[in-house]
Amino acid sequence: MQKYEFQAEVKQLLDLMIHSLYSHKDIFLRELISNASDALDRLRFESLTRPELKPEGELQIRLDPDPTQRTLTVHDNGIGMTREEMVQNLGTIARSGTQEFIQFLKERKDTGSAPELIGQFGVGFYSSFMVADRIVVLSRKAGESQATRWQSLGDGAFTVEEAEREEPGTSVKVYLKHVDEEDGIQDYTKEWVLREIVKKYSDFVAYPIRLKVERKEIERDADGKPKAGAEEKTTVREETLNSMKALWTRPRKEVSEEEYHEFYKHISHDWQNPLEIVAARMEGQFEANALLFIPSHLPWDFFAHSEKRHGIQLYVKRVFIMDNCRELIPDYLQFVRGVVDSEALSLNVSREILQQDRQIRAIRTFLVKKVLDAFRTMLESDRARYAGFWKEFGALIKQGLYGREEKDRKETLLGILLAASSADGQGETTLREYVQRMKPGQDAIYFMTGPSREVVERSPHLEAFRQKGLEVLYLTDPVDELWTTAGLEFDGHKFQSVGKGEVDLEKGDDQKKSEQERKEKEKSCKALLEGMQKILSEEVQEVRFSARLVSSPACLVSRDQDFSPQLDELMRRMGQKVERKKRILELNPDHAIIVKLGQSFEKNPEAPELKDHARLLYGQALLAEGSPLPDGPEYGRLIAEMMTRILS
Ligand code: ADP
Repeated sequence: MQKYEFQAEVKQLLDLMIHSLYSHKDIFLRELISNASDALDRLRFESLTRPELKPEGELQIRLDPDPTQRTLTVHDNGIGMTREEMVQNLGTIARSGTQEFIQFLKERKDTGSAPELIGQFGVGFYSSFMVADRIVVLSRKAGESQATRWQSLGDGAFTVEEAEREEPGTSVKVYLKHVDEEDGIQDYTKEWVLREIVKKYSDFVAYPIRLKVERKEIERDADGKPKAGAEEKTTVREETLNSMKALWTRPRKEVSEEEYHEFYKHISHDWQNPLEIVAARMEGQFEANALLFIPSHLPWDFFAHSEKRHGIQLYVKRVFIMDNCRELIPDYLQFVRGVVDSEALSLNVSREILQQDRQIRAIRTFLVKKVLDAFRTMLESDRARYAGFWKEFGALIKQGLYGREEKDRKETLLGILLAASSADGQGETTLREYVQRMKPGQDAIYFMTGPSREVVERSPHLEAFRQKGLEVLYLTDPVDELWTTAGLEFDGHKFQSVGKGEVDLEKGDDQKKSEQERKEKEKSCKALLEGMQKILSEEVQEVRFSARLVSSPACLVSRDQDFSPQLDELMRRMGQKVERKKRILELNPDHAIIVKLGQSFEKNPEAPELKDHARLLYGQALLAEGSPLPDGPEYGRLIAEMMTRILS
């Protein structure tokens, strides 16, 4: 016998689990059944190519309660585990970020909600320690003869030793704690308790969940009366507790919300209810049933573990084929969970085939349409709910706005986009609503990108737009930098960054007039513009007068075709070599600072303090748009010197 310590993270999670006030302790059985069902799925799949693995009997899950010993055992004849797999799977959590996650849970103190979060993390098996003092797992891997026994008291260590098991599969024996109704611990050796839990959480499991039940019977005559002198006899027979009905083949109105929710939790390993259910049947050449779920939140480790994601399960004629079938859904919708059951695919499909299969592509197009329809319906019918959804998944969905793949869907995606805007308080707007509010003669949809609403809102680039009552969208997700440069249009309107290119908000003759005026001012202030350009030649490519400033002295803009500084930074962080493009410094000709500065340049363009003034102004423009200063200490020194001069 060999003794092992649990990985430190497992110990901590067990501790949290055992001491949490979570009252739904029954779910431990759902987790064990779920694991058994996964093991049966895997065996069924493996035996498609290795028929020798097929067990003699029927694939099934058996519950075996023992009221005298006070144990409950869950048996399956699935894939089983080797000794190494048991040590690995039942002793560690092989996920990075676990430590941070536990720390986060501990700091949250309210242990009541901890299990929901733990559930997202997938510690299904360990949840049995909520109701057990000891767990013994006996497992034999399909195709091997040696079995292994794993045991633990949940106290930080476990042992493994060689053992025997008649056939491949796994048995999890739970030594039950005392019944404590107040703490949510029921008597899990009672038939009706088990029946109820299975019905509630695991009815749709595709394998029979069996239980031996005792019935006292007495021989009766034709009228149903006990026969004279007959004795009561106890008979034992095995009953199947679940209906095994594949939920996705049943009409939607025949399935209760509860059943859907439990099914979602079963396939997603999420402990929270889904936000939306999308059930659809694809008719025609390629028949398929789809049952999809939109989760209510993004799993905390969504980006870290794309390979471990549950995604969409592929079935063929009710036979499980694979988990997380990425070919069925584009990347920007990878958070959608569910099942697709095809009538026409072959049972022997492989990943390679999937990638080129015409049918898979057709199903995928169908799913995308259904999912986007569901988003749109939610947007139209329940705005508050949709806003919550968008907050969680919007940044991901916007990834569908660039790249070639979703060419035909872009207008649809733009139609469901929400963005903060200068128009109304803290709320968010759709593009349709924006377009309806556009001023007469306004062609473009104006937007400004930046790190946060607060920064964007205060940026000087918006001043003239605000003065003219033109609405500007605030786009603050990194992905916004990408799709806004993809040349998209919504309802025939282009997207125009207020931080790029020349801006003149006057129309027709007024525009000509204002441009004329500006050019004349620029001519008469040649000394200022040229002087500034010379001093700042390393930093900016041009200094010019602005039509977008009202109250600020200066701002920095990019040329239409250039990346914004945020996108520049993003690309650089992604390891791309991008040349840092110099930007344009725009000055507000009517601002007191600029007027005075102009006079100083006029008098003596070589005066030494002008260098400092130019640098201060440049730094101020950077700060105003929320960009970092290239040399903070130097900027601080300039300000200190200036204050000294003013104060003395
Ligand atoms: P999860 O099911 O979320 O992966 P668990 O802690 O419930 O997490 O289980 C850990 C792993 O142990 C599973 O991924 C599986 O590899 C293995 N396992 C658990 N139960 C069984 C079983 N009945 N048969 C085979 N393998 C199992």
